[in-house]
Parts: sequence; structure tokens; C-alpha cells
Amino acid sequence: MKYLDEIRKNLAERREQGLFRQRSELETLQGAHIRVDGKEYINFSSNDYLGLSSNPELIATARAAAAHWGVGSGASHLVCGHFSAHENFERDFARFVGKPAALSFSTGYMANLGVISALAGRGDAVFADKLNHASLNDACVLSRAEFKRYPHNDMAALERLLSASTASHKLIVSDTIFSMDGDIAPLKELLALAERYDALLYLDDAHGFGVLGNGRGALAEFGLSSPRLIYLATLGKAAGVSGAAVAAELDIIDWLINAARSYIYTTAAPPLLAETLSKSLELIAEENWRREHLQRLVALFREGLSDHAARLMESSTPIQPVLVETNAQALRMSAALKEAGFWIAAIRPPTVPTPRLRVTLTAAHSEDDVKNLAACLRKLLEEAA
Ligand code: PMP
Repeated sequence: MKYLDEIRKNLAERREQGLFRQRSELETLQGAHIRVDGKEYINFSSNDYLGLSSNPELIATARAAAAHWGVGSGASHLVCGHFSAHENFERDFARFVGKPAALSFSTGYMANLGVISALAGRGDAVFADKLNHASLNDACVLSRAEFKRYPHNDMAALERLLSASTASHKLIVSDTIFSMDGDIAPLKELLALAERYDALLYLDDAHGFGVLGNGRGALAEFGLSSPRLIYLATLGKAAGVSGAAVAAELDIIDWLINAARSYIYTTAAPPLLAETLSKSLELIAEENWRREHLQRLVALFREGLSDHAARLMESSTPIQPVLVETNAQALRMSAALKEAGFWIAAIRPPTVPTPRLRVTLTAAHSEDDVKNLAACLRKLLEEAA
């Protein structure tokens, strides 16, 4: 079959170029220490920033919630799949991030598709940072609005696009912490531009929720508050569970319930997850030591690589990419790190503009884990030079 032959050829080319994607099976819990194919690794690839994914209190909550609610929701939210566990979590979440109302989605990807395509359509315009997450870009395309991308964090370029736009409605879309670089968008400036040009501002805080602002995320960290601000947290990262929640004015949430297709036409997430997430919010609020430890690890990692500072990015967050020259070098270094017992993903184009090792630190790591990783990276970078 011709089409299948073309797919095979495409796969073969990807293999040759070092771009073939493959999965690995974890044989243990997610965490700082994992086993893959019978070998133990220190894991520097997960987004489980606070180390909550295997937290005993959350596991106990999930068990009890499964016994109470069962394991499946059985329907979409608007049919008969919306439980008081979902409602309670949404109320807890809205209060936690300081917004009037919230809505939970099954994943961050689905939230982005649903929110952006509900708030922007033909005749409207979305303005998006070039390094935004793939799910935001997909959502902008899906919305059928005019899709205007500005160079990373370039507020002057964004302002030029906004001032030239004649669209009926304007929506600015940005990651808060950029997922592959670890830097933070100029959020105050984004909000000021949204106010000046009468736009809505949608912020994807997938990597900031639980980490920034004493755990309450980017809005709390930078003191941002405005009815034109729509906030997204994903809940499979620092919150340690799964799903996503959007917080906004009540009327925007009501509009999403009526118009966000990825909310309406999908089975609700199991209520046991919503109940577990409410408990996760409590741990995020109470256990400040997790963030304090994480910040110490970030400083330790950057100190450990200070002789190779040019390889690091301007990041004060747990996402600490190490830049390398080529895809081949990224794969070689990732393999050498694995040999040495460190699990670190090589991230290559087209996911990112330039190849890198994406190191993520979590509260489950020890200082020694991080010192040992920095020493191993130093050695590999010196050998490659
Ligand atoms: N936004 C950003 C910035 C992300 O990094 C991710 C996940 N990698 C998502 C959205 C999607 O979230 P989820 O994994 O819950 O679909």
C-alpha cells in the first residue's frame, strides 16, 4: 500500500536523523528513583516538581475516594458525570488561586483546546508567544481565529501586532514558565498590554502552579489580578495527580461550560481524582518545605555547572535545560547519562528550536542526587569539548 510505504519511509528518515520517538516503561512509582528495563535510575525528567505523585496521603485519599465514588464518572459533565467531588474541587481551586470561579478539564491539552476555541473564532485574533506549548498552538489553529505569533517574550513586537489589529476580539496567550526553557514570561507587561488593547489574557501556568507564589502559582507570585485574566493550571505536574483547571470570572466559566467542546463532548474525569486533587491543594498550601528544598536544589545545580554557564538558560525554575550542539550530541549525552544512572530526556527539534537535555528538579531529589548529576554533566561536557 502506497500510503503505508510512505509512513515507513518517513519513520526510517526519522531514525536516521535521530528524531525517532520511543517510549520507555517505568516499572516503579514515579519519583526521584525509578526502574526502567530492570535498571535503577535517578530520574531528572519528570514534572512531579513537589514529589507528590506517590505521596502516601494522596494515595490514601484516592483509595478512600475510589471506595466512595467508584472508579469511573460514567458520562460527560453536562449529562450526568458531574459529581459533588468535581464541584468541591473547583470551588477549592478558585479560592486557592484567587479567582471567582473555576472549571476542571481532563487534561491540560484539552483545557487549552476548549478554552481558546471557545474564546476566539473567525473574525477574532489570538496573539501567541513563539515558544508557547504545542497544545496552545494547536488550540489557536483549531479556533480559526487569526493566529499571530510574536518572538519569544518580545513585548514591543506584541504591541505592534495588537495596535495593528482590527479583530473583533483579541486574546493574548502565553505560557507563564516556558516548558522547554524554564524562563518566565513578562506577566505584568502582558497584562498591561491586554488592558491597553482591550484583550483577554490566557496564561498557561502548567509549570508554575504548585511552584511559584507559595504554591498558588504565577498570579500570586506576581500579584496579578484582573477580570480579563484567565488562568490555567495543569494538575499532572506539581499537583501530582492528573487533569487541569481553569479559573476566571464566573461568566467566563459559564461560557466555557456552554461552548468549550473539549469540556462538553468528553467523559468527565473520575470523581476520585477530583477528591484527590482537593487534598493535593492542601498539601501544596501546607508543605512549604517542598518548595524551599526545590529552590535549594536549583541553586545547587546551577552552581555545579557554573564553569559551563553558557550551556544553561536564564532559568530560576525547576526546569534547567542544558544546551548541546547537535541532535546526535543530545542523544549521545542522554545515553551516557543513562549509563551513569541518570534518566534525562534529550529534547530535539521540532519540539524545541535547538537540541538540549531537559533537566527537571523535584522536591523528591536529595542534594547529593543533584551534586552527582552536575558532576556527571561537567565530565561529559568537558569530554565533548
Ligand atoms: N501546557 C503546558 C505548558 C505543558 O507543558 C503541558 C504538558 N506538558 C500542557 C499544557 C498539557 O497538559 P496535560 O499534560 O495535562 O495535557
